[in-house]
Amino acid sequence: MQQVRPAAPQLEGVEPYDPKYIPAEVMISANENPRDVDLEIRREVEHAVRKVSLNRYPDPLANDLRDKIAEANGLDRDQVLLGNGGDELLFDFALAWGGPGRKFLNVPPTFSVYAYNALLTNTEVVEVPRRSDYSVDVDAVCERLAQGDIDFAIITSPNNPTGNLLTGGEVERILDASDALVMIDEAYFEFSRFTVRPSLEKHENLIILRTFSKAFSLAGVRIGYVLGSARVLDEFKKVRLPYSVDAVSQAIAGVIYEHRAQFEKGVDEIVAERERVIEALNAMDGVQAFPSSANYVLFRLDAARGIDGGDVWQRLLDAGVLVRDFSRTPRLENCLRVSIGSPEENTRFLEALNGILA
Ligand code: PMP
Repeated sequence: MQQVRPAAPQLEGVEPYDPKYIPAEVMISANENPRDVDLEIRREVEHAVRKVSLNRYPDPLANDLRDKIAEANGLDRDQVLLGNGGDELLFDFALAWGGPGRKFLNVPPTFSVYAYNALLTNTEVVEVPRRSDYSVDVDAVCERLAQGDIDFAIITSPNNPTGNLLTGGEVERILDASDALVMIDEAYFEFSRFTVRPSLEKHENLIILRTFSKAFSLAGVRIGYVLGSARVLDEFKKVRLPYSVDAVSQAIAGVIYEHRAQFEKGVDEIVAERERVIEALNAMDGVQAFPSSANYVLFRLDAARGIDGGDVWQRLLDAGVLVRDFSRTPRLENCLRVSIGSPEENTRFLEALNGILA
């Protein structure tokens, strides 16, 4: 049999992205919304899905949904672009602004997908690490951008997995530092109640990424969007897959977006529970929880007391609780991340961790 020649050289030694989504009784590892969509809204969703022509291609740009999102954000249709989850748009960003000879500025520790996409597209990654409290070193970012060779940057606010928020003033300084296209990834902005949207008026080099996966309980459906200037989004259109946002997802997301105010209550509960979880974690010996503006909390276990993060992760799983293990990730040593679940799930997590540390 003929042997196959090797894949593209940048793939050598690469491990496929693995969210380590292991079945458990309490799933609080992927920053999902613990509440599924309310029954009443689900009924409307079912009605909308029934009307979809399954034999026809979807509207490639999902214009109905674009119009709804544009209107809610005070923008025009051509300043909104939908994707198959925020993940697809992140990949499109690397395709359109990266490539051989191009440079991406990353601010680690952050969402690992950004650096992964850079690797796939042969884009050079320039790192300006966050400070020890995981805040962005804005002076260092601006200085590096001012050298003029960075093509694009992504800053996550609130940051995943550390929870830090950028201020509007900080974003303005970063946008003014160069002509690099800067994405502010606002996947979790609903839990911070802060957006950099006002900066779009004055900065063509800003784009904002958002998702239906978190506040809108729609991780299973795969809808994300970017807000930006029409000129910038035209470049995204050149690289995007024509039909990546399928007709069923468009129909579902349209109903969800019309009812978005009804998700506020769930967001409020998550924010209140987040503060309870942070307080309870900080009351435990050998645990330091970081402040968070999102729907998850990063916490560090005290290695000096012989507590090993990977070991605690496994024992939590043995107790039926799945959290995310970052204990071997550079700059996140001995850290775990817990997504805020229902009040019962959070209590079960806290009790299990207390038992393990006792
Ligand atoms: N950005 C960040 C920071 C995220 O954490 C995620 C989800 N893990 C995404 C973007 C993409 O989300 P989705 O593809 O579900 O829209």
